[in-house]
Amino acid sequence: MLALGGTIGAPVDAAGSNSTLRVDAADLVATLGIGAETVRLEPETFRRVMSADIGWDDVTALAERIRSLSRDGVDGVVVTQGTDTLEESAFLLDLLLDVAIPVVVTGAMRNPGRAGADGPANLADAIRVACSAEAVSAGVLVVMAGSIHRARTVQKTHTSSLGAFASHAAGPVGSVTESRVHLRWSSASRAPTWTPTSSAAPRVTLLRLSLGDDPAVIDAVTGLDPDGLVVEVYGAGHVGARCVEALSRAADRMPVVFCSRTGAGALYRTTGDYPGSEGDLLRRGLIPADHLDGLKARLLLMAVLASGVRDRVRIAAAFDDIAST
Ligand code: ASP
Repeated sequence: MLALGGTIGAPVDAAGSNSTLRVDAADLVATLGIGAETVRLEPETFRRVMSADIGWDDVTALAERIRSLSRDGVDGVVVTQGTDTLEESAFLLDLLLDVAIPVVVTGAMRNPGRAGADGPANLADAIRVACSAEAVSAGVLVVMAGSIHRARTVQKTHTSSLGAFASHAAGPVGSVTESRVHLRWSSASRAPTWTPTSSAAPRVTLLRLSLGDDPAVIDAVTGLDPDGLVVEVYGAGHVGARCVEALSRAADRMPVVFCSRTGAGALYRTTGDYPGSEGDLLRRGLIPADHLDGLKARLLLMAVLASGVRDRVRIAAAFDDIAST
């Protein structure tokens, strides 16, 4: 069990806020009521940070730690962290890891000092999933509020609800009831994983377009010369006609991926054929992210670029691969 911090491990101070980070992994495990006869837990405090402070380096180091634990023969790994960026680190781990053990990420919406704190239940469920044979080839999973989600599909969809984590289009792949793990999973459908060739994080900017947006902002971002750009566009893949030239200029200089800002559903490819439509963006060399949202599309583009792939066709193939799994 690798603890990174966040609300699940943040004790409340006198004012009821969770600004301090003192609970370590062993303290978290002590809250569980899962006996040593059931599972032998090895808690490790990997980082003590709120999840907004987790970066590419932390997640790549975490992936390395999980690989080494897997080589050492552990049967499963549970990661605890703050929920704010949990969907991103889980997805990036899923892109980077190819280990034959369950890897389960969890957190808590309510800190340990609040009535109905969900950390212990989420952690106990996550440990059960990490012990289950069905989770071995499931890719990275997120367990929250009794549901099991693929890292590939899960999103944080609410600021404070205990049921904040959802997989809109696909639904959860399983549940934990009492101590029983129910997982519907076909191991045949794993997308390839990525192996960064350098430790430096590629600079990929995520831009969300909005009503009446100014193409000068796209040009300004392009002028910063990032390694890639991800744009969250309207609906099934549309931008205002005024933005098309700026996006075209960006796509001439770097990979530009477009995805929907709606939060669920795959992009169209053949329906719209007018300036700013998905057909127009495809013709101008923008790469469709299919059903991935901006957060996940950015991480996939980063993982692909970090692995030394620069070619537009191969980048597009990476997005198609993930769409088919
Ligand atoms: N601010 C916290 C974090 O993401 C919130 C949480 O853990 O739910 O680190």
